[in-house]
Amino acid sequence: MSKNIAFIGLGNMGLPMAGNLVKAGFAVTGFDLAPNAKAAAEAQGLKFTASAADAVRHADVVISMLPAGKHVLSVWGELTAEAKPGTLFIDSSTIDVESARKAHKLGAGMGMLTLDAPVSGGTVGAAAGTLTFMVGGTTEAYAKGEAVLQKMGKRLVHCGDAGAGQAAKICNNMILGISMAGVAEAFVLGERLGLSHQALFDVASTSSGQCWALTTNCPVPGPVPASPANRDYKPGFATALMLKDLRLAQEAALTAGASSPMGAQAAALYSIFEKLGHGGEDFSAIINFFREAESK
Ligand code: NAD
Repeated sequence: MSKNIAFIGLGNMGLPMAGNLVKAGFAVTGFDLAPNAKAAAEAQGLKFTASAADAVRHADVVISMLPAGKHVLSVWGELTAEAKPGTLFIDSSTIDVESARKAHKLGAGMGMLTLDAPVSGGTVGAAAGTLTFMVGGTTEAYAKGEAVLQKMGKRLVHCGDAGAGQAAKICNNMILGISMAGVAEAFVLGERLGLSHQALFDVASTSSGQCWALTTNCPVPGPVPASPANRDYKPGFATALMLKDLRLAQEAALTAGASSPMGAQAAALYSIFEKLGHGGEDFSAIINFFREAESK
């Protein structure tokens, strides 16, 4: 089994994920550009290096958890020249499918094994080690990465070849963005029709309107006590992150020539909601946007 892991990008997600690898007995070396990263990494039991290149030289597996495709391509571009041939590179960031495929090509060209392995489950799942990984890459790379990913997540799905993990992630989150907008809209209509939140929930949650946006992340307080609506829409899954994923889905639809009118509408709604200053709220707070829009 791989023993030495390099972890690049120790932010809100990366640091707790790397911490779980330390707890599982791996030797984890980390690097991040942020000024406070060293102290935070050392507190989690990581060895922090002065550069990303220093972190990967003795690694069997390199994991990146970075903001966007351009960061991943730049970091992989540098590090695939520094790592041992045959090292497994895993990118768990959420990035565009095209950049993910470029990253695979770049790694393979340098003799590395590569996986795209974006996650769902957020910072809570990252800390608890209960993330879901959607994985793209060869069966050889997947077989090598499985044991490592299992220490950070509770569910792995091998979705296909290069980029398939990112494709699955943005398709799933496009469903989520659209379905949340629909559920929120229905609750606002119900309010105007004098229907109680609980009554609509009791019907829709056991009928054909049933979906995760309703039954787990219900946008009104009451029916699902653990949903962010019960704590002033503290995320959860922030509006800004939902918007990022909806935009990635739109980019992918454009590149692939797929028709995506509902995704486009959801992206437009979340974009306005973010511009109004709600980027830090849970994405289910979009219900307040519908309420405000109709009162004007
Ligand atoms: P974050 O901004 O907290 O962390 C990103 C880290 O990357 C930062 O600490 C930054 O300093 C570091 N970084 C940037 N460029 C670097 C470089 N060249 N070398 C080394 N470090 C560099 O973001 P996050 O919330 O941890 O998210 C990371 C990724 O995971 C994103 O792609 C995001 O979309 C995805 N994601 C986030 C969540 C969530 O709930 N936060 C959920 C699922 C997926």
